[in-house]
Amino acid sequence: MAAVDADVAVVGAGPAGAAAALFAAQSGRRVVVFDRATFPRDKACGEGLMPPGPRILDELGLHDAILGTGAPRIDGIVIAAADQVTEPSPFPRGETGLGVRRLRFDAVLSSRLERDPLIDYHQGVTVERVVPGRVPRVVTSAGEVGARAVAVADGLRSNLRRQLGWTRGPRPPHRYGIVGHWRGSFPIDPWIRLTIHSGFESYRAPVGPDEHLVALLCSHARMASFANGVTQQYRVLVRAAHPDLEKADLGPGVSAIGPFRHRASTVAGEGIFLVGDASGFVDPITGEGLASGLEQAKAFSQALAHPHPEAHYRRLHRGITGNRWRLTALLVYLASDPGRVARAMRGLTRRPSVMPALLGINLGYWGFGRVTPREWVALLAGW
Ligand SMILES: Cc1cc2nc3c(=O)[nH]c(=O)nc-3n(C[C@H](O)[C@H](O)[C@H](O)COP(=O)(O)OP(=O)(O)OC[C@H]3O[C@@H](n4cnc5c(N)ncnc54)[C@H](O)[C@@H]3O)c2cc1C
Repeated sequence: MAAVDADVAVVGAGPAGAAAALFAAQSGRRVVVFDRATFPRDKACGEGLMPPGPRILDELGLHDAILGTGAPRIDGIVIAAADQVTEPSPFPRGETGLGVRRLRFDAVLSSRLERDPLIDYHQGVTVERVVPGRVPRVVTSAGEVGARAVAVADGLRSNLRRQLGWTRGPRPPHRYGIVGHWRGSFPIDPWIRLTIHSGFESYRAPVGPDEHLVALLCSHARMASFANGVTQQYRVLVRAAHPDLEKADLGPGVSAIGPFRHRASTVAGEGIFLVGDASGFVDPITGEGLASGLEQAKAFSQALAHPHPEAHYRRLHRGITGNRWRLTALLVYLASDPGRVARAMRGLTRRPSVMPALLGINLGYWGFGRVTPREWVALLAGW
């Protein structure tokens, strides 16, 4: 049997991997973490951390450090489309989210990994493969490590998941995102603003005192309109959706990412656990990825204490992602057709109880049974 060098090995020090390492260390385990990047590094994201997220950061003792980066509070969501705007819909249960600029957020997580005495943290080291088994192994560019469990948190297009033969996807509809940051003096606006216009969804969130993020989400076909220059076309489309950004400065580093939709045939087996985007992702439209990744990280650590860790993690993972992913797929379906968008907007404005019901599903507070038949009719038929 191969030597056990650590209780837990983690691949990827993004939010999911960092939190998996920190939860494991919190329960007294010796952890080794590898990330091929050196921090601070940026990552294309909508940067809205939904309410379960801040609560989990608190459990890791990180909430104040994240607030210290200037992360503004987010109270809920406003949707605009088809010449209608919904009333602001606060997150249920009085909870709030945070606008987390990934460059700063991930750097805080990384420096926390560096300071933890139970964590042996290696930046700038690529993991070439993971080998399942009773003592799973992590093979890196700098050597090999055996651990009792390996958390693979290497992101959306997880190379390691593909090598394991566990990748299913990318699956249609193939959707993409283009992300940029805008600087200006903005009035305080604690709402995520989802604006659907000309075949794009624009997702806008405050991420600093003078900084707003805007992510444009669209289908593969719509990406053709960026053929003559992503940054220039992004600027034009965003300003059309948000005229108040006319005087704001677009920062460098507009980035495009996609396709999004990947699944894994399993999220745990033979000592290997997929955590965060590596375990599957549907679409950014519901902004659930970060919070869900943090919850999975906690579930990973809980599963290690169970007599059947892999089966227990698979169960917990289904509980965290099942309804969220179904809801995300439903919203992508609705957003993809102007007629459906118009009907949904009519329904959302006529029946304001629909939005809180959907938000609660997205935050993992309740299931689809919470949405009444009348609310379904409002959302799907606009009555
Ligand atoms: C356009 C867009 C908008 C989004 N908007 C939101 C939003 O508003 N709210 C939200 O919650 N979520 C949003 N998401 C989703 C969110 O970005 C992801 O869910 C989140 O980044 C997942 O975190 P992670 O830790 O799983 O992966 P990542 O953040 O991708 O981290 C993976 C890490 O693994 C490392 N790595 C990769 N391969 C290796 C290797 N072989 N060896 C070593 N290290 C490796 C990488 O360097 C990286 O640091 C959005 C996503 C997109 C694309």
